[in-house]
Formats: sequence, structure tokens, C-alpha cells
Amino acid sequence: MSETVRMTDPGPDGRFGDFGGRYIPESLVPACLELEQAFRKAWADPAFRTRLDDLLRDYAGRPTPVTEAHRLSEALGIRVLLKREDLTHTGSHKINNVLGQGLLTLEMGKTRLVAETGAGQHGVASATAAALFGLECVVYMGEVDTERQQLNVFRMRLLGAEVRPVRSGSRTLKDAVNEALRDWVATVEHTHYCLGSVMGPHPFPWMVRELQSVVGNEAREQCRAILGGSDPDLVVACVGGGSNAAGTFAGFVETRSALVGVEAAGGSAMGRGIPGVLHGMRSYLLQDEWGQILEAQSISAGLDYPGIGPEHSYLGETGRARYVQATDSEVLDALQLLSRTEGIIPALEPAHALAWLAGAARRGEIEAGSTVLMTLSGRGDKDAETVMELLQ
Ligand SMILES: *Cc1c(COP(=O)(O)O)cnc(C)c1O
Repeated sequence: MSETVRMTDPGPDGRFGDFGGRYIPESLVPACLELEQAFRKAWADPAFRTRLDDLLRDYAGRPTPVTEAHRLSEALGIRVLLKREDLTHTGSHKINNVLGQGLLTLEMGKTRLVAETGAGQHGVASATAAALFGLECVVYMGEVDTERQQLNVFRMRLLGAEVRPVRSGSRTLKDAVNEALRDWVATVEHTHYCLGSVMGPHPFPWMVRELQSVVGNEAREQCRAILGGSDPDLVVACVGGGSNAAGTFAGFVETRSALVGVEAAGGSAMGRGIPGVLHGMRSYLLQDEWGQILEAQSISAGLDYPGIGPEHSYLGETGRARYVQATDSEVLDALQLLSRTEGIIPALEPAHALAWLAGAARRGEIEAGSTVLMTLSGRGDKDAETVMELLQ
């Protein structure tokens, strides 16, 4: 079963087993086909890859280190290595995706980016790339989220982007995605839709995974250098839409490392969802018995997407990866644990990965002395205020 699972090119229909695909209105098909073709060409072009690698190095600060977490390891009785995406420019793995899509936008001869954002992080990343590449940038954000995340709205404007509050539906992330798709259909001649995770219609889940695979590919080689040629026993990452986890898993799926994705308990599409169609893809989704999409709940705005990328649904169903959950209170404990043992304040999202890991180690579910690579997808500065309020 698991030995045959690979994270490969899903081919023209964009399917990962029963998941993924391209469930979109006729009017969006040409845009998706054009994008797929442009990405295939760019990704196979050594000149494009060199330009992207140069930007990842000189602008984003790659390669990010793998840090051995000695005091945390001692506390948990396992050997923990951290892949430090928190040390990138803008402070999370999202920069890898937007630099790739920004460069692709130039390659396609387009001048404008649209993006969706929930908490604002992907909006800020997209606005960053747009400024760097001299592109116009419009970010769709649910009105509720613009009120909750005023600082990120300001950041986007400072970077020269226009933020458009979305007033339809629940006025949150899922409505912002719909609005960005609508804009894209109408403006596709000069606009690229810079989608923020491994979700949406083909080619996005595959393209974003490829752009994030730098995380896993670097980490695999770094782990081998630290572990004397071995791969870690366990590879752990948090899952919202699933891009940092997909990029991490891509580097390890063909090794013997066990793969674990950690969702927010209140947003667990794999744990509590059922397969359905949303935003152009078939995947596990939180929905009621009539197929109405449910709102995900989490202290971490970056993890409250009601679905999960289709390749994770596939990895989960085949058993190659396992999906588990962490609750808000476990996450707050984990954030403090990493801060105090290692001097690293993580974002709330990767604190989910640590929350599960710490719990599993303490319950004896992970053999003592096991080696673990955990992706630290982002730094905690953005969450300091939320955490301060919750801890008071
Ligand atoms: C956005 C974000 C996530 C969640 O997105 P994925 O696509 O699941 O990776 C996780 N961690 C950080 C720091 C983020 O900013």
C-alpha cells in the first residue's frame, strides 16, 4: 500500500487518486489550462529554475537551516530537528510560493496579481512579491477577516496592494476564494490568480506543492548530514490548506520516514470531514449532512480553512501519511514550551505540530530516542497579541 505512493505529476486531469481534479465552470477552463501549460514549461526550463533559485537565496534567505532542538529533545525524550521556515524573509514558508508564482506571472507576460487571504498572511506575501516584481496587486479578504486582522490589511496597503473586503456569504476566507476566482475569469488576459495553498482546481495543488518542495528537499539533505546518512523516523508538519506539509512531505515521501500532518481540532477536514467538492477540487471538507460547508474554528487563523488539499486526502486514504489534531489549549502550551526550551517563539500554526508531537511523546506513542523532523512553518511575532490575550 504505502510503498507505491509517490508525490508525482498528477497528469492533465490533476487527480491524486480520487481527489483533486478541476471542478470549475466552463469559463474558468481556459485560464486553468493556460496556467498549467505555462507552469509545465517554466518548471522544465533551467533558466526559470535558476532565476527562482537565485531569488529564494538572495531575497528569501534560503536555504533555511535545520536546527537541532537540544533542550526540547531532552524534555520530550526524542530527538527533534526543526526546519526553520520562520527565518525566511516575511517569516514563513509562504514566500516560496509567491516568489514562484510572481516569476511565473512575468513569464506569462501578465501585469496583475489577485490573491485571496484569510488571516492576511498570504495577502501580505502576495503583496510582497507584487512589489518586488512591479505587479499590480488586489487581495480579496472576507470583511470579517479585515476587521480581525487590521494590521495585516495595513501591511498590504503599505506594500502597495489594494485590499477588497468581501461581503458575500460568511464574509471569510471561503468567500474570498470565490471572489478571487471571479475576478480572475474576467481579467485573465492580464491577471494571474496567486493561490495560497495546495488547494483549488488543477494545476494549483500540484504547482504550489512543487514550489514548496524546496522545504522538504533541503530538509532531507540537511537531516542526512546531521543523522549520518539516515532519514528521520518521523516527519511532522501542520496542515491548513496543506502547503508547508506538502512541501515537506515531498522531500520524504520516498524515504522510510513516517509522515504526520497536524490539523487544528476545530478545523480538521481529515478527522471530521467527508469528501466533497469546493473551490474546484474534490477533497475532504467540513460539511453538514446537506453539503453546506461548515466554518472551521481555531485560535490560529492560518489553519481555519474548512478543507484540505486533495493530495493530503490521497496520502491519508492510502495510509502513506497520517493526519492528527491538536486543540487550542495544547497549542498554547506547545508555543510556550518551544519558547522556553529553545528561545524560538513559533507561529500558532506550527505550534500545532509541536502540540501533537509533545503529546504523543509524553503518551509513549513515539519510541524514546526516535528522530523527528518538524517543519517550523513560521515565526510567532504575528500571533503575540492573540497569545497575550489568551494567557492573561
Ligand atoms: C498560512 C500558514 C500555514 C497554513 O498554510 P499551509 O498551506 O497549510 O501551509 C501554516 N503556517 C504558517 C506560519 C502560515 O503562515
